Amino acid sequence: ESYKRIHEVDGKVQAFLALDEERARSYAKELDEAIGTRDEFGLLFGMPIGVKDNIVTKDLRTTCASKILENFDPIYDATVVQKLRRAEAVTIGKMNMDEFAMGSSNENSAYKVTKNPWNLNTVPGGSSGGSAAAVAAGEVPFTLGSDTGGSIRQPASFCGVVGLKPTYGRVSRFGLVAFASSLDQIGPITRNVEDNAYLLQSISGVDTMDATSANVDVPDFLSSLTGDVKGLKIAVPKEYLGEGVDEEVRQSVMEALKVLEGLGATWEEVSLPHSKYALAAYYLLSSSEASSNLSRFDGIRYGHRSDNAENLVDLYKQTREEGFGDEVKRRIMLGTFALSSGYYDAYYKKAQKVRTLIKKDFEDVFEKYDVIIGPTTPTPAFKVGEKTADPLTMYVNDILTIPVNLAGVPGISVPCGLSKGLPLGLQIIGKHFDESTVYRVAHAFE
Ligand code: GLN
Repeated sequence: ESYKRIHEVDGKVQAFLALDEERARSYAKELDEAIGTRDEFGLLFGMPIGVKDNIVTKDLRTTCASKILENFDPIYDATVVQKLRRAEAVTIGKMNMDEFAMGSSNENSAYKVTKNPWNLNTVPGGSSGGSAAAVAAGEVPFTLGSDTGGSIRQPASFCGVVGLKPTYGRVSRFGLVAFASSLDQIGPITRNVEDNAYLLQSISGVDTMDATSANVDVPDFLSSLTGDVKGLKIAVPKEYLGEGVDEEVRQSVMEALKVLEGLGATWEEVSLPHSKYALAAYYLLSSSEASSNLSRFDGIRYGHRSDNAENLVDLYKQTREEGFGDEVKRRIMLGTFALSSGYYDAYYKKAQKVRTLIKKDFEDVFEKYDVIIGPTTPTPAFKVGEKTADPLTMYVNDILTIPVNLAGVPGISVPCGLSKGLPLGLQIIGKHFDESTVYRVAHAFE
């Protein structure tokens, strides 16, 4: 069914970079034949799933939507992909994205621009735009994305689907091509909250292959979908409804709060005073980490290798010049600059200090409240091409999602109305490792 729909609509939506049709069909057949021969089935038995193209899949092309990896066929599966297999989900293909997950619109893909199925003239968001668009277009019910500064929640919001960034450490990053290692998390994108909880359940847990994965219990997320939010305390940061946020977006959050109030929750306005520094700190820290992480793409170990080089150093240079797109180069330059001696204290170190303050803002609020609620993005999806000329206007789009990554806490985007025919997202943010409460509120509201 998924392939039928993909062949019907993906010409327009352009969400997939690679399909694995033959293998997926044969695995699905194998699963079909298992029905009736055993009593136990994986949590995602037979469910088709699309995987973002920065998550490595054995013998299935993984490009990160970059020319530098255009011929890269990994020799192993990421931990999450192994876990999907254990849950008996069927991986059907790889999803388009912004190159190396840098971007907010999918326009930075080296291969194609995914379109928002709600209106093909608008962007699906990014960087997990392919993952969100495919779910919205009914091509596949489950996808995995990755979120460094909003890349799951923002496209989920633009496409009217549900996307969760788990707590940092909840899901193994082994096999996720690193952008900014201290911020990156893999997470589920689905049509509804229940599916989302199923998918998170399947991919969570400590992993010896990822030292930053956390050794904490994985609760039964599904059991928190009770619909009961009585007595729950909600904080609404005034910084999230201020300047730059569309009036209709503000309204939709107010209406959502009314619904939750009707269900017995209470809310109050709070302040996250350091929010205004989050964007600057994020772009310094994430670019610094990226400049280091992306040094492995040298034309020797994997992917593209320039034919025009005269010696080794020249080979590095030519390969990277030919292989990386403009946005990736911009981040590498910014990061290298911020880490260079003489500037390190002024930029990188200062950004780290700001990060600590932002984390503290969240801790203070979570002493008194169970969840934080606000919009996912200041506006609905923008037009294709509208923000490509000026990287700064593109960066500002992430202003409400980035603090969550800096603090390492979990956040979800759930659909909460329409503006000009385009979906809006409500962002629900929880305490460290408390995805259960996030799901509980999201499910009650849904
Ligand atoms: N849009 C943000 C960026 O370009 C976030 C990306 C992400 O979360 N991977 O960095």
